[in-house]
Amino acid sequence: MNNFKDTVTFDDVLLTPQYSDINSRKEIDTSSKMCDNLAFELPIISSPMDTITEGAMASKMADLGGLGIIHRYCSIEKQGWMVQHADPDVRIIGAAIGVSGDYLERAKYLVDHSGAKVLCVDVAHGHHSMMKKALETLKTEFNDYVCIIAGNVATLEGFNDLADWGADSIRVGIGGGSICSTRIQTGHGMPTLQSVLDCSRSDRSATLIADGGIKTSGDIVKCIAAGADFVLLGSLLAGTQETPGSLFYSDGCQYKPYRGMASVEAQIDWRGHTSSVEGVSHAVPFKGPVETTISELSRGIRSGLSYSGCRSISEFQSKAKFIRQTPAGQFESSTHIKSRF
Ligand code: IMP
Repeated sequence: MNNFKDTVTFDDVLLTPQYSDINSRKEIDTSSKMCDNLAFELPIISSPMDTITEGAMASKMADLGGLGIIHRYCSIEKQGWMVQHADPDVRIIGAAIGVSGDYLERAKYLVDHSGAKVLCVDVAHGHHSMMKKALETLKTEFNDYVCIIAGNVATLEGFNDLADWGADSIRVGIGGGSICSTRIQTGHGMPTLQSVLDCSRSDRSATLIADGGIKTSGDIVKCIAAGADFVLLGSLLAGTQETPGSLFYSDGCQYKPYRGMASVEAQIDWRGHTSSVEGVSHAVPFKGPVETTISELSRGIRSGLSYSGCRSISEFQSKAKFIRQTPAGQFESSTHIKSRF
């Protein structure tokens, strides 16, 4: 039988504060490189889900220095229109595709007709022979003209294979999403921070995108310290003004929908029936403009780097020191007055 691997996730660890001579968060550079000739001011990507990223979110994310990836759960023409509607001549817009069916036709339309600069090969289990075929085909079709993100994977072996098959940037994390029931349904997955720690040991040049279960700017800082070049967010951006979906009222409060793409509700909408259900649907309180959320996250990231005395992501990744915390430490790390009074 197995030797059980010891794993950690976000709340199991903290970063040790270190000497700093940084006087202002403005001194900190949060830019990060995704592919050759493509870098972003902010290491934040909005998830290709139908309750997170369509044209409005993608264009705002680009304005704020990050990247939005428009989901693929609609016709090719509608997705292409959304990419174009985000005015891709001046902004970098990402668009998702699958690994079967119309994926190649979709990819060509998105790039050649709509101007997408980043394609995201978006499947639940990316360490798969169909991913290999799709990546090899896409590389032949576009060479290095398009930046190709692929995923998701949970292991170093998966990361290295996707890099060898042609991915420029790889989504890391399986089963950790806030709306995900994959681990419950299938018994498979890996705590997201552990996957990031493992995959960051890769000697390949592909960049790393942490994805799933990121709840706070502190979790983002931990992902970056563990080796992530970017984080990809769902729930942290859910409920903002720029997400698709209508506002609704319940008990006098405003909400927006947020759902896993493998939830019953999403599957019925995009393919008319359910197959394996591995997600749930949820209502999240309305948060107002995404700019407010991104500004808070950005301030948290800058403060995080400053606590380690670092002015850039690469410096942070070389200096950051993790410690494990006990359950008593986890309690102390929370705003524990709330549980005492
Ligand atoms: P969150 O940021 O914790 O809400 O996680 C969002 C991530 O969950 C997405 O970026 C996907 O990788 C993943 N995801 C989206 N839909 C589903 C689903 O239905 N089941 C499992 N994972 C999902």
